[in-house]
Amino acid sequence: MVLMVASATVSAQEYPTKPVILAVPFAAGGPADTLARNLAQVMGQQLKQQMVIENVAGAGGTVAANRVAKAKPDGYSLLIAHIGMATAPALYRKLPFNPLTDFEYIGQVADVPMTLIAKTGLPPDNLTELIAYVKKNKDKLNLGNAGLGAASHLCGLLFTSRIQSEITTIPYNGTAPAMAALMGGQIDLMCDQTTNTTTQIKAGRVKVYGTTTKTRIPSLSMVPTLAEQGLKDFDVSVWYGIYAPKGTPKSVLDKLVAALQASVQDAQFKSRMVELGALAVTKDKATPESLAKHLKAEIEKWGPIIKKAGIYAD
Ligand code: ASP
Repeated sequence: MVLMVASATVSAQEYPTKPVILAVPFAAGGPADTLARNLAQVMGQQLKQQMVIENVAGAGGTVAANRVAKAKPDGYSLLIAHIGMATAPALYRKLPFNPLTDFEYIGQVADVPMTLIAKTGLPPDNLTELIAYVKKNKDKLNLGNAGLGAASHLCGLLFTSRIQSEITTIPYNGTAPAMAALMGGQIDLMCDQTTNTTTQIKAGRVKVYGTTTKTRIPSLSMVPTLAEQGLKDFDVSVWYGIYAPKGTPKSVLDKLVAALQASVQDAQFKSRMVELGALAVTKDKATPESLAKHLKAEIEKWGPIIKKAGIYAD
């Protein structure tokens, strides 16, 4: 008995002794992947062990979340998930996991605003023209997204409902492939996170109609907000958190929390986020308590909105 206790203590102290897998619920090259790779680099240094990204795309991010919920709770299977974790319970009637009971929380990571973009060939040159154009051509236009419950899906819905127009949506495994389709002219419009759109906007490879923030984004200061162009109070930002399977030992969680806190305060990580239009969270948000509280509040906020809108998957 004494021996067993001793060896359990030693293994927790040693954690991690092998690479830690961070599951990303969307395709490589997109917003979640970009954030995860930037974080994994600094968090890996903190943990003195490699953090390896695994892209597990599908069903708006719920495939990856389900996989991690059912993984061995040993600290080697983690999940990075966004706002979709809070909308999934209302959107998916047969959600195979419970965000409130199947995970241990590590903490929040960053907040990422969005931009409304289009293929370069779309005629309207500003938001007012775009709204008129969409109303006139809604049967011919389409809107790309990363599946039911993805941030691009929610933002697209908010936009089309605000302008009272429905457009056909085309789901992809992530907004990286959707971006390729947009730049190739196969889709017309998309609402996507700045971590995926900033480079393309600056290079002129997509048209931009506005940001979803209350005030302009410093790294995209030439882009007006949707709110300042008339869509009053349009304010959407995508929050991310890190999760571990329920039952992960406290000693392991403590190490992960410490590594996350150091990472969100890392100067290089912070400035990379700013370059991409995003904001690393402050230390007090990179905590299990903060993520638990925020997730619960977001589930309570989005549930009634989604039910009212009547959107769901069986
Ligand atoms: N975060 C998703 C991705 O990485 C996109 C989304 O949620 O809209 O592709």
